Amino acid sequence: MAVKIEKISAKSALKRSHVKGVDYFLNPYSTCTNGCRYCDTNSSGYGDTWGEGINLIKINCAEVLKRELPTAERGVVRISPQADPYQPAEGRYKITRNCMEALVPYQFPVELFTKSPLILRDIDVLSQLETLEVGITITTDSDMVRRAFEPKASPIAVRINILKALHEVGINTCVKIDPLLPMNPERLAEKVRLYTDKVIISHSNSVSNKTLHLYKELGYTQWADKNFVKDVLERLKESLQGLI
Ligand code: SF4
Repeated sequence: MAVKIEKISAKSALKRSHVKGVDYFLNPYSTCTNGCRYCDTNSSGYGDTWGEGINLIKINCAEVLKRELPTAERGVVRISPQADPYQPAEGRYKITRNCMEALVPYQFPVELFTKSPLILRDIDVLSQLETLEVGITITTDSDMVRRAFEPKASPIAVRINILKALHEVGINTCVKIDPLLPMNPERLAEKVRLYTDKVIISHSNSVSNKTLHLYKELGYTQWADKNFVKDVLERLKESLQGLI
């Protein structure tokens, strides 16, 4: 099914965060067309059509943000917990880019997470933020696994190249391993360690019923075994010492 873009008007841009160390959430897009099969933000009625169907984009998000920033208390902004801010629609609509440009004069610290190489288009704006961390989500070292679980998101090699390109221009980078998908932990560590300042491992989604079901459906049954996953986590942490 083709993706239909629906432009919506945001009433507010900065939302107070409940996450420690993060003051605001900023969501330029209400939905995400990356279509990761384990995604747990699709609980709002998108069901099996997540990544297809209607994509809700906040067309006025940057304008609303510009109105809010002069009176907002300075704080850390996370972009974006609800959807990839560099999903395909961003190529045309530049809502995330416009939001980043709005943030530059105020220098709020920014954390941004994506799986998309489109972020490289905005290096010129990102470089103007004094406190910025870009997280690239890399959940496995295997592109076969990536294709099974994240069929529409960019290949692993592309994500490593994003990391490398950002690192080379001096932007703070972080690798986010969430969820923990079937992998060779040493090989993944080897691929990322030269290009990242930090690694966050969270396997909260790995134990969700949805992910457990996917492991079984896709033939990775042993990944549903807690003891097996615990061993993998230990190997991963060991291989990433100094970055966690
Ligand atoms: S990129 Fe994130 S929000 Fe988008 S489908 Fe994948 S997990 Fe969900």
